[in-house]
Amino acid sequence: MRFWRRRRKLLVCRDAVALMTTYLDGSLEPRDRDRLEDHLAECPHCSEYLAQLRITIDALGHVEVEDLPDETVDDLVTLYRRWQSD
Ligand SMILES: [Zn+2]
Repeated sequence: MRFWRRRRKLLVCRDAVALMTTYLDGSLEPRDRDRLEDHLAECPHCSEYLAQLRITIDALGHVEVEDLPDETVDDLVTLYRRWQSD
């Protein structure tokens, strides 16, 4: 168990999800990439989602945010809310 003396600028899951497609595309700015990777290291939910997103993108053959159905994003937000309320 780690305790942070100083508050770090951690992403919330919703922000992490918003960055993921850009991250997988390789065009995320280094600063944002670092923040996202920090978040992924500490958040198993987002790590799992990133893995699923990667599979989805592999299936599509390319990375376009527009290709992700709104329902997918909505489902995810619902999932996260449930996790966070545990
Ligand atoms: Zn997360």
